[in-house]
Amino acid sequence: MTQQSEQFKKVISHAKEYGFVFPSSEIYDGLSAVYDYGQNGAALKANIREYWWKAMVQLNDNIVGIDAAIFMHPTTWKASGHVDAFNDPLIDNKVSKKRYRADVLVEEYVTKIEDKIEKEIEKAAKRFGTAFDKAQFIATNPRVIEYQAKAESILKRLGKSLENEDLADVKALIEELEISCPESGSRDWTDVKQFNLMFGTKLGASAETAMDLYLRPETAQGIFVNFLNVQKTGRMKLPFGIAQIGKAFRNEIVARQFIFRMREFEQMEMQFFIPPGTQKEWYEQWKKTRLKWHLALGMGDENYRFHDHDKLAHYADAAADIEFRFPFGFKELEGIHSRTDFDLGNHEKYSGKKLQYFDPEQNKNYVPYVVETSIGLDRMFLAVLSNALKEETLEDGSTRTLLQLPPALSPTKVAVLPLVKKDGLPEMAREIVEELKWNFTTSYDEKDAVGRRYRRQDALGTPFCVTVDHQSIEDQTVTLRNRDTMLQERVAVTQLKTIIEDSVSISTLLKKL
Ligand code: ATP
Repeated sequence: MTQQSEQFKKVISHAKEYGFVFPSSEIYDGLSAVYDYGQNGAALKANIREYWWKAMVQLNDNIVGIDAAIFMHPTTWKASGHVDAFNDPLIDNKVSKKRYRADVLVEEYVTKIEDKIEKEIEKAAKRFGTAFDKAQFIATNPRVIEYQAKAESILKRLGKSLENEDLADVKALIEELEISCPESGSRDWTDVKQFNLMFGTKLGASAETAMDLYLRPETAQGIFVNFLNVQKTGRMKLPFGIAQIGKAFRNEIVARQFIFRMREFEQMEMQFFIPPGTQKEWYEQWKKTRLKWHLALGMGDENYRFHDHDKLAHYADAAADIEFRFPFGFKELEGIHSRTDFDLGNHEKYSGKKLQYFDPEQNKNYVPYVVETSIGLDRMFLAVLSNALKEETLEDGSTRTLLQLPPALSPTKVAVLPLVKKDGLPEMAREIVEELKWNFTTSYDEKDAVGRRYRRQDALGTPFCVTVDHQSIEDQTVTLRNRDTMLQERVAVTQLKTIIEDSVSISTLLKKL
């Protein structure tokens, strides 16, 4: 087993053991690619949600937030193109009868080439030591250049065939690359077919009158259909944005990799409405702004990269992903799309209602263009959790499991621990909890030796532990232990709030933007 998948397995089992993520309806053996968030997961998720929402809605006076329904009039999905074009190219292996996304098979092949490049770089870095110049090595090493050219030409061809709907060529590419079924090892493939990803359902009491509906596959359309409602009632002037967080549903075929690809998931999307012709600037601006949001979390600048799309979705004139280094390699975390006037224009056509903006500067009406930022909350959760989980070897040779979450995202900010369960220490600890709970999520723990309690909080990602000992009763001081450094300092109880606040509050994080 590779080191990468070892780490990923650890993340999945940690998520379950510490109440972050459970398989859905587990007592019935679960439901494929559907997950439930436990007590700590729900808290972590809520903090990520808050960070995103505040960064969008609170910090920008020209961005407002809405909460649209999951059910939408079915014509929405005709207009948006999802009925006709929200498809994945599928291929079946004739021996294992397993179904795969044809594009994913090719992309995984390319990931293997990228892994080879990484290995070459690692080897060279070891060989050259401090004198190693990574950029120069990548630009000049013949083997790396050859790998890169191969990866690029495969992705270009895949992009082109998908764009031209040339599914026969996608199959030809799979055959030429000699890609075999991961399950059976066979290279006996069916033709590539398109498969629509939307979940259908029905609205209405009787079978004859029921209306066919879809569960929304993206939250964006709830924003587009409300564009005029918000613009008029909020007296919004272009450029302005509408943000939304909510559930989306996709009948994903390749639903593996834990919460990376789910059938029911949550999106955080923002549609930014702009005058036509300004989309390039705004697209670049939002790419920068969004990357900054990620980097402020301090999860390592080297773990992010942009990937510009060759193959554009049916609505876009430019698109890029912010990719993150997950335990299984660099993968899409967020998309930034220049969607032109595709959506509003089509909703005008299908609804017969004008969805235009009167621009007082240009003295004319037009359908605005849109640049959107779209990130999966669950995928962000996985990025945060997998980046945070560490095994540390301590000076005395023992190991500790540490969940080094960005403090503002930690489910519990401070745990209060009486050193022993007597002599008034539990009472004083409870009093401290009562004081701190107005500002922070706080927990109380008196079970086991204090060292074990620290470890438990480390594994939950709690940034601070406050320990109440006999001296505390005498002089109203406690020890404050830092999760990352394990250093303990003696502080007055009255100082706790200020010290903790500074490092765990969402506002401290927001100020970095
Ligand atoms: P992918 O290529 O991984 O299928 P996508 O390009 O279809 O993703 P978008 O339609 O751009 O994704 O959706 C925006 C964001 O929503 C993605 O960047 C991702 O974070 C999230 N997302 C999309 N599909 C899923 C899913 N099935 N499970 C969890 N998150 C998802």
